Amino acid sequence: MKNSEETPRPARGIRTRAVHGSHPVKPGPVSTPIVHSATFSFPSLDALRAERDKHASGAYYQRDGHPTLRACEQRLAGLEGAETALLFSSGVAAIAAALLANLRAGDHVIALHQCYGGTHDLVTWGAEHFGWTVDLVDARDPDSWERVFRKETRLLHVESPTNPTLCLVDIGRAADLAHRHQALLSVDNTFASPVGQQPLALGADLVLYSATKSIGGHGDLLAGAALGSAERLEKLWRVRKVFGPVPDPTIAWQIERSLKTMPLRVAAANDNALQLARRLADHPGVAQVLYPGLTAHPGHALAMRQMKLGFGPVVSIDVRGGGEAAAAMVDSLQIVRHGPSLGGVDSLASLPAHTSHVQLGAAGRAKAGIPEGLVRLSVGIEDLEDLWADVDQALARSAALKV
Ligand code: PLP
Repeated sequence: MKNSEETPRPARGIRTRAVHGSHPVKPGPVSTPIVHSATFSFPSLDALRAERDKHASGAYYQRDGHPTLRACEQRLAGLEGAETALLFSSGVAAIAAALLANLRAGDHVIALHQCYGGTHDLVTWGAEHFGWTVDLVDARDPDSWERVFRKETRLLHVESPTNPTLCLVDIGRAADLAHRHQALLSVDNTFASPVGQQPLALGADLVLYSATKSIGGHGDLLAGAALGSAERLEKLWRVRKVFGPVPDPTIAWQIERSLKTMPLRVAAANDNALQLARRLADHPGVAQVLYPGLTAHPGHALAMRQMKLGFGPVVSIDVRGGGEAAAAMVDSLQIVRHGPSLGGVDSLASLPAHTSHVQLGAAGRAKAGIPEGLVRLSVGIEDLEDLWADVDQALARSAALKV
């Protein structure tokens, strides 16, 4: 898969790259035109072949990639300093492509107990249907990971921070471990976002996103992304072409527009999240706050090194009184909405035991360290005092219901 023939500009600041991209822009429309064409025509067979062989760079057939998508992929790659990027029609499709591109029957993959529930489904479903084998390791105990590597291990897949327990993985250390065993490291960077943490620079081979979250940022689209070298992404491009999860031109345009404001949105949400986490740490209705920005968090020093724009928009709180109290708290929220997603401008609250990690069952959640009374708050960009007042009154109502 070839990248753009145009030479990227020397690196500029993240906000400039978000707005203008990293490649020289041609005079013309400031906003990328949406090219609604499922296929493209050619003056000759040679011209068709030339375009076909450019793969995702080209305008050949929409499932191979298309001009609106390519513009967005280049802007995203430039933001993270990746050689190239590919977009998918969901985050799960991007993770599935990474697995399918790198694993065959008999191969072995290692993932985290704490990884997103859908990722858990993917690795276990793949084990049943494609004959690869899986080991899950505990994000809180990286010293134990080495023991599960085998000569068949091809991939170590991690998240940092993890969903919803906010464990941190030392990405450089995980990359060294994987590479020592001739395996690749893929990092689901959804919680940190492309402007908040750059795993490729820390040694990861592949970075994956649910672009539904901070990349899209407005709760209005479903998409995924994979970033890495052109050589590695060529394999994922083949999976995308074979299975077909390609975002259409309108979605590609929406994502590219969202990228322009991503550094501002992420910085504002991360600031709000840190302030809320600090206040919630002293709240009598909360047994524990999980947030890497708090000095008491076991991964705080690592977060200071790895995360560039704050500690992410997600704050998880263990509400005193367990599952029922947590449900009452979520039901009492008036500004923060009750819904299963994160990373958008709107604040959302969800109960992982009923949403992202329902498939683990109570025993699986206990193993992953997810309390039944955990509320995952995805903090948006509203005014901090309004968010605080809302969360505070919801905790008070939930406490009142218990007596
Ligand atoms: N990765 C993480 C960390 C997630 O939280 C999610 C969804 O919540 C996904 C991947 C899957 O993304 P999508 O819902 O876009 O398929």
